[in-house]
Amino acid sequence: MSKISPPREVAIVGAGPAGLYAAEIIARADHHVTVYDRMPSPARKFLLAGRGGLNLTHSEALESFFARYGKDADRVRAAVETFPPSRLIAWANDLGADTFVGTSGRVFPKVMKASPLLRAWLRRLGELGVVIKTRHRWTGFGPDGVLSFDTPDGAITIKPDASLFALGGASWPKLGSDGAWVAAFRAVGIASTSLAPANCGVLVAWSDVFKSRFEGSALKRIAISLGDASTRGEAVVTATGLEGGAIYALGPQIRAELERYGSAVLTLDLKPDMELSALAERLSRRRQKETLTNFLRKSGHLDPIAVALLREGVPALPATVDALAARIKAVPIRVVGLAAIERAISTAGGIGWGEVDSSLMLTSRPGTFCAGEMLDWEGPTGGYLLQGTFATASTAANGLLQWLVRGQ
Ligand SMILES: Cc1cc2nc3c(=O)[nH]c(=O)nc-3n(C[C@H](O)[C@H](O)[C@H](O)COP(=O)(O)OP(=O)(O)OC[C@H]3O[C@@H](n4cnc5c(N)ncnc54)[C@H](O)[C@@H]3O)c2cc1C
Repeated sequence: MSKISPPREVAIVGAGPAGLYAAEIIARADHHVTVYDRMPSPARKFLLAGRGGLNLTHSEALESFFARYGKDADRVRAAVETFPPSRLIAWANDLGADTFVGTSGRVFPKVMKASPLLRAWLRRLGELGVVIKTRHRWTGFGPDGVLSFDTPDGAITIKPDASLFALGGASWPKLGSDGAWVAAFRAVGIASTSLAPANCGVLVAWSDVFKSRFEGSALKRIAISLGDASTRGEAVVTATGLEGGAIYALGPQIRAELERYGSAVLTLDLKPDMELSALAERLSRRRQKETLTNFLRKSGHLDPIAVALLREGVPALPATVDALAARIKAVPIRVVGLAAIERAISTAGGIGWGEVDSSLMLTSRPGTFCAGEMLDWEGPTGGYLLQGTFATASTAANGLLQWLVRGQ
């Protein structure tokens, strides 16, 4: 990218991974970059993400990687193609992360945590001259490119040469991204689809007996389906429903069904590796004196939680072997809602794709770009969220640089 002189003043609003990565790219082109964040310190959600093992990205082939973004695959593809997992890995390694590929294909820094990576990153940003202003809450757009903030010293306005917004979604609002930006964008006519919990638990009305015995226990090696979509993995029983990888993966389908019908019926296969006929044959070997529960545990190799789930919500188990096998292969679970966005891993919805051009510049506000989770895309857990975040930040930051070179 050809450099321009004198350097321009660039404001980045939001110091999560999207804002910080955009700041790095723009500062490398010698512009004056100031990052504003409403919290007392940057990247709080990134730090939380590292608590359970910072899954930076995934090592699977790019074609299947793109498909993980579901309905948004085309839009995210453009960004990830120019900033693929290999670039995110190289960036993290350059900061000393020493990444490795786990058995599931997921990529992590060796220490698993985000804090050493963030420390090295903030040091680098400081060396590049990036200024981070915390406790600066952006409150809205003023006339002629002015941005307004609430600060500990009162309200201020700034008028940068270009700006980039990376305000995140609305999950874990106490860490900073509370989705309040939606109203400020709407006030100037920029539409966004409503922010909804993604990669979150689902609500199921368990019986008191089931809940008290199995809250915190996992249904392991199960398959879950809804319509044409199905997934394998495990689901953990909570006081209010189910959570875990297999549930999160069906999030978009569950949300759509809830919006349409008010509830969604998941089908759980408790023996996904066994054909129905083979299962029925095994169940037919029950001796007369053996209790059904014992038999299901021992010969059916079903955990106590799986046996209890078969009995959940029905007065009795099916009397015939075929019907019992069919129930084990298809336990219906009625989902009545999604768990609150406050504990969701990510957010669906955001700035509509119709509002931005291919460089992620707002078409109604030339010189203003958007990146990260505040855009309308979603992905599953597995490193796809941070990859999408960094890739859209790369697209928007490079778009902003090109826009400055073009002379506004
Ligand atoms: C528990 C948990 C675990 C996760 N684990 C992983 C994982 O292992 N792998 C993975 O890929 N992803 C993971 N994620 C998701 C990942 O953290 C997010 O996708 C990522 O942080 C999004 O980055 P962002 O910069 O777009 O938004 P954010 O990280 O949300 O940053 C937005 C920033 O904007 C600031 N802000 C918001 N509003 C204003 C305002 N009005 N004025 C000024 N500043 C404002 C916020 O304070 C915040 O600092 C996890 C998320 C959670 C909650």
